[in-house]
Amino acid sequence: MKIPVTKVEKSRLSEIDMNVLPFGKIFSDHMFVADFDGQFWVNPRIEPYAPISISPAAAVFHYGQAIFEGMKVYRGDNNELLFFRPQENFKRMQQSAIRIAMPPIQEEIFMQGLRQLVELDADWVPHGDGNSLYVRPVYFATDPVIGVKPSETYKFIILTSPTGAYYTEKLKVVIEKTYSRASRSGTGFAKAAGNYAGALYPTQLAKQKGYDQVIWTDAATNTKVEESGTMNLMFVIDGVLITPSLGPSKLAGITRDSVIELAKYLGMHVQERDVSVSEIVTAFEEGKLEEAFGTGTAANIATIAVIGHEGQDYSVPDPGPDSFCTRALKHLTDVKKGRIEDRFGWIEKL
Ligand SMILES: *Cc1c(COP(=O)(O)O)cnc(C)c1O
Repeated sequence: MKIPVTKVEKSRLSEIDMNVLPFGKIFSDHMFVADFDGQFWVNPRIEPYAPISISPAAAVFHYGQAIFEGMKVYRGDNNELLFFRPQENFKRMQQSAIRIAMPPIQEEIFMQGLRQLVELDADWVPHGDGNSLYVRPVYFATDPVIGVKPSETYKFIILTSPTGAYYTEKLKVVIEKTYSRASRSGTGFAKAAGNYAGALYPTQLAKQKGYDQVIWTDAATNTKVEESGTMNLMFVIDGVLITPSLGPSKLAGITRDSVIELAKYLGMHVQERDVSVSEIVTAFEEGKLEEAFGTGTAANIATIAVIGHEGQDYSVPDPGPDSFCTRALKHLTDVKKGRIEDRFGWIEKL
């Protein structure tokens, strides 16, 4: 499939300082767009990144029928462009689509759109260890009809954005017991826009109290930790890597999966299971909580320095060079940069 391209008249690349890359604010010259006309995927195209025109009656604005993905392209040390597990993002987008009653995306549209877009804007993939081209596929309802039902028409767009580190400091997080992100019968496992809208207010409250993010607890009892912000959550307690098991309320992170696979390879004992708030507090009190971190494409592996719970702040020890999260981050970076053998088959070259 050869996608038709309308190129920008003049690239904006020379205006960008690639040494200062805020997350998600700079967009590359082009975007990929495809439409679903109610029956078929039509008119796949690459065009200049620019505002689009949609009816104000479009279903997406009223009922939030929208899903997205997040993935990264890295520039290897030898200048090759390396995708990290893009097939997983495609599969997850299909799962999200089903849950929000959207038609599946044709694999060729997703993969060829991605590849041909990144190829065209290859110069936008930054150099440097913490840097990458963040890829944001977004898929939403466009029927100009105010009526609660699945839309018949949709738009699928891929944007790309050169980015640096998402979090530059270690995180201060607080366990949230009033609000929840997702319930076991809801949409938490889908990367559905509405999940993130509902998370903003509790996060705002946490920020007013001096925290960067919340740790979400289960909606039914608020006694089990689930995720932190938009990251999966991991702890090292007494030498064991412990992470909440997946389920309908949790987003199955590709970074999470990769870190677990890596931990097993490194000989670490891994437990995926329910993790209660009281277990975390007890581990702190007994001095057994060795590491805490979040995992996600945007944030990579983000170290947690402080966990707040019921008015008390617990400090997590600083991860040393031999800590698991430091080693895992190095290993992942080395794979993404093409420095070491890709033994897990995670990398796809452009
Ligand atoms: C995207 C996301 C993650 C991380 O998933 P990755 O595939 O590792 O990027 C975790 N939790 C939530 C809620 C997310 O939206």
